[in-house]
Amino acid sequence: VPRLLRDLGEHAWIARLTERLAAQRADRRVLVGPGDDAAVIRSGRRPLVLTTDALVEDVHFRRAWLTPSDLGRRAFAVNASDIAAMGARPTVALLAIETPPRYRAADLDALVGGFTAAARRDGATLVGGNLSSGPHLAITVALLGEADGRVVTRAGARPGDAVYITGALGRTGTAVRRLLAGGRGRLPPLPDRVRAGRLLAGVAHAMIDVSDGLVQDLGHVCRASGVAADVTLDDVPVSASCRAALGSEAAAFAAGAGEDYELLFTVPPRREAALARLAPRLGCPITRIGRIGRGRPVVRIDGAVPSAALRAGFDHFRARRSRV
Ligand SMILES: [Mg+2]
Repeated sequence: VPRLLRDLGEHAWIARLTERLAAQRADRRVLVGPGDDAAVIRSGRRPLVLTTDALVEDVHFRRAWLTPSDLGRRAFAVNASDIAAMGARPTVALLAIETPPRYRAADLDALVGGFTAAARRDGATLVGGNLSSGPHLAITVALLGEADGRVVTRAGARPGDAVYITGALGRTGTAVRRLLAGGRGRLPPLPDRVRAGRLLAGVAHAMIDVSDGLVQDLGHVCRASGVAADVTLDDVPVSASCRAALGSEAAAFAAGAGEDYELLFTVPPRREAALARLAPRLGCPITRIGRIGRGRPVVRIDGAVPSAALRAGFDHFRARRSRV
């Protein structure tokens, strides 16, 4: 086993940890353990859903790319996305901030203000947190949620299911590409798919949010479900900004770019009519982009295994493709 995380990679290290944790004595309170978008535990009458995620300066964002308020909104949104991907709704949040001492108090106020505004919009409340000094800005959130009924994991996809995605891909990736090339502007806001996720929980076999890239995240569904997936590139919905910037290369770029925070889900043929009836209430478009099949866990694009760059997605330690 490589000694450095740089050589092992984020996903390989997490896979090893998840394997070790699975060997622990089973805890009857745990309904969904490590390895999904969020954990689910038994608590009271409804399943309790828990997730945590961090935004780190110069890893996930550069300070010039977001106003403090937008950074706070984004910190909530990336966590709410994982709760939405389970078909649940956020309830309470904890916010831990690390900041350099030279950071302005008014900017910190605005950051927390953006966070609480985004939380309020989804019916969630900030109930505590921590403030620490550090070499750069880092925002870590713990978000709890509640599911009305059953939760949707990555593990339920079955051969024959149709693969759908909400919204469109490539918006953040296109903005990051422009900013890294010296362009001006800010990162676009992230979509809020909490309502869509809750409604989709009634028809979806499996669901995940697209944070690392379509190919990689659909790959997570395939591995968890023990199935293969076929995607038609022409069917992948591409954001207008990505289409304008990349033209004929837009769909391939969008399929590999991460940070779109759309919901990717699979639906059995017998529930597609119910999905069509739900569609007008989701608050966003949905597009069928492929089909689940039998066989070893692999994602094919137009019948072929995609390039290594597309498959790799983002890995925090291998730096194949840096986020900022
Ligand atoms: Mg996720």
